[in-house]
Parts: sequence; structure tokens; C-alpha cells
Amino acid sequence: MKNILGRLSPSSIMNCTLKKQTAEKKIVFFRNDDVGLYSKEPVAKELINLTNLFIELEIPICHAVVPKEVNMETVQWLKEVKSNHPDLISIGQHGYSHINHGKGEFGGRNYQYQKSDIETGMHLMQEYLKSDFSYWFAVPWVRYDRCTKEICDKLRFKVFSGGVSPVWYARLFNSVGRSLNLNVMGFKVVSYHSTNSFAQNGFSMTEISVAVDIVEDYKLKQIKSLDRILKRFCQCQKHFSVIGFMLHHWVFDAEEKLEIVRNLLYHLKTCENVSFSLIDKFEPHG
Ligand SMILES: [Zn+2]
Repeated sequence: MKNILGRLSPSSIMNCTLKKQTAEKKIVFFRNDDVGLYSKEPVAKELINLTNLFIELEIPICHAVVPKEVNMETVQWLKEVKSNHPDLISIGQHGYSHINHGKGEFGGRNYQYQKSDIETGMHLMQEYLKSDFSYWFAVPWVRYDRCTKEICDKLRFKVFSGGVSPVWYARLFNSVGRSLNLNVMGFKVVSYHSTNSFAQNGFSMTEISVAVDIVEDYKLKQIKSLDRILKRFCQCQKHFSVIGFMLHHWVFDAEEKLEIVRNLLYHLKTCENVSFSLIDKFEPHG
């Protein structure tokens, strides 16, 4: 724990300490995407190491699986880890094939193509994971449209997970979009993160999106500094009651990268206003 403070600038420590004392309760969750992709081993060692870290610290982690790509060894491993730690693991669906068709996997594609992929993926998840599959859908690259949401809702997913930003212009954009009951304004999707207004938008499911990406550069597999991650988290605390961190296990291929996550988790555990949850285990706020 000592080395956490060593890595933080005084301003970050002050801000977060202040938040710890005064802020309302915040729900924090972690969504790990791309399970089933980019692995040379039967079960990616980065996936095992990252999951073990969360289990060791008793913090829940949600794995988003690519149904078309995941192998049976990984499915078996997911089932085992879920059965050993049911309260710490949730397994959801991450698209279908994770192929970028131009605007991500789903953005701009017609209803039938989207439906066929999401439904086929869901059937694979049901077949592979049975009751260990939780009905949440993490949309790759946060690229989607009204069709994507409509299909997921009709297929009875409980949670739809994209991305949401705490910066002022994104908040303004989303608040205007919500007030007009829109899904897309211009070329951008409107986020209904953690609000009941998603229901007014015509859906039974809830949107619970991620707001903190801890990766700096995916091509170079670089992680942000703990200081930067916490700055974004503090910014999120001002505006959101539910704060999601996005992970991609395949980036964590060295101990020093995992160490940043460890330090982040240690820090969050000391925040009195933070409680951890799985993505599908809490009710949205108004
Ligand atoms: Zn992905």
C-alpha cells in the first residue's frame, strides 16, 4: 500500500482524500473485454493472472466473452472460476465475432445482420455456459445504433454496456439527447448510463457503461499511470454514482502492468464511499 502514495502526485492524493470524506456512495465495477481473443495458450495466462488478482483482493470482475472466438478450454476455465467464486465473477457477451465491419462490429449495419450476429452469439453463450451466462451485452468499440439496443432488449439482455464520459461536453450532449429521447444525435450515440430514462427510451434493460479506460495505447500495450487513472476516477465521482473501469486482459502481459491494477484496487479499497459490484447486480439510479 505504501508504494501507492509514492506514485501519486500531491494534488491527486488531496482530491481523492477529499472525495473519500465527503462523497456519496459510489458503485464501482470492472469490465474485462475480449475474452477469447488473441491468445496463444489454451487459456490466456494474462486472463488467469488478472482474474486471480481480483479474487485475491475479493473484488468482483466481469468477463465479456467473444462467443465466436472463445475456445472450450477458456469456457471450462470460466465455469470453474465462476463456480468457485460465484459472487466475484460475472460472464457476459462481447459482440459476436469482434470483426470491425467499418463502424465497429454493429454500427451502421442493417437490422437483420445485427440480429443474426447477436442472436447466434447469445445461443453460443447459452450452450457453452448454461446458467453461468449472465445476460449483459458489452458492445465492441462502443459503436452501435438504435437497432443494436432494440435487438438486445428483445433478446432479453438485462444490461447493455457501452461507454460514457464525465467531461462537460459529453454530459451536455447526453443530457440533451436524453431529454429529446434520442439514441443517436449526429453521428454519436447518446448514453443513458445508469439512469431510469433508458426505460423511457423504450427499453426494459439498463445501460451500465464504462467510464475509465486504464489503457493508454492498445497498439503499444501501454497502461496509464495510476495518477492519471485516479484523476479520471475523481472526475467520474463528481458526476456518476456508478463508475465502470474497462480492462483488456491481453494488455497485461508484464508484472509491472498488473502492479498498476493492484495499486488501483488497493486504493479503491481504502475509499470509504466505494462499494464494488458486478455489472448485473444492482439497480439503476433515477
Ligand atoms: Zn473488444
